[in-house]
Amino acid sequence: MRRGLVLCSLLVLALGACARGERRFDAARAFGHLEAQVALGARVPGTPAHAAARDLFVEHFRATADTVWLHSFEQVIPLDSSRVRADNVVAVFNPDAPYRICLGAHWDSRARADEEEDPALAALPVPGANDGASGVAVLLEVATALAARPPAVGVDLVLFDVEDGGVHEQPETWALGSARFVADHPSYRPAFAIVVDMVGRRGLRIPREGNSMAAAGGLVNVVWEIGRELELSCLVDSTSAPVFDDHVPFLRARIPAVDLIDLADPNWHTTRDLPDACAPESLDEVGRLLLGVIARAEASRQR
Ligand SMILES: [Zn+2]
Repeated sequence: MRRGLVLCSLLVLALGACARGERRFDAARAFGHLEAQVALGARVPGTPAHAAARDLFVEHFRATADTVWLHSFEQVIPLDSSRVRADNVVAVFNPDAPYRICLGAHWDSRARADEEEDPALAALPVPGANDGASGVAVLLEVATALAARPPAVGVDLVLFDVEDGGVHEQPETWALGSARFVADHPSYRPAFAIVVDMVGRRGLRIPREGNSMAAAGGLVNVVWEIGRELELSCLVDSTSAPVFDDHVPFLRARIPAVDLIDLADPNWHTTRDLPDACAPESLDEVGRLLLGVIARAEASRQR
């Protein structure tokens, strides 16, 4: 009996130690997630590569998160008028926690590389190493880190579909997956949302994005403060022009939201948006920043 009790206590201690494992962002593994997405082909909605990527994400989240679900809907893509099935992929950590934060990235690829001058190249899809795969790669690795030590606050990782099928000069034709996600779940009120988009470029530079500053400047300041504490080099203090990205539907719903986006990528919407131009160090900075944001949320809730 007594020995049984001792064994039982040891087991509880061991399990406790396991549950309090280190959260570590593995940059090489994150970069592997980026390469794996690009290797599938452009994740253009309606294509087999798109479906294969979605299945890959679901499999990864099933192994790391508490729950995984798909928010599926039909969507007409403004860029080419195709009608497709679209899926936002949602990974939930600590589902019962009332205080929740949302971290998002878009996972679809643009059907046309319309920044190319050569019309033959402009008709091809964007490989989307930076534009799409980078943000997703960071969130997949954040999921692995959270699995090592489950968060004390609720964390929802959302991979948004159909962000990148828009028409230029028509902002409302972009970020359709996040708009639908917010519209279809009016009772979902996270404390804040952070979107990561185009965060993989070698020599990453993220300015304070204009819409985030206008509507959630306090949250931007907190994120930049955490970046300073972590001695990150990617965050710069200039403010960019406003960008219509997946954070805008949250802002419109009066949920504070920040878009972490590098607008200076010369390969944006071209066929050169490939892993060669990206770097594990860039994913590492953004991944550690998001883990820092989660740790800050946990600390502030415990006070
Ligand atoms: Zn894009």
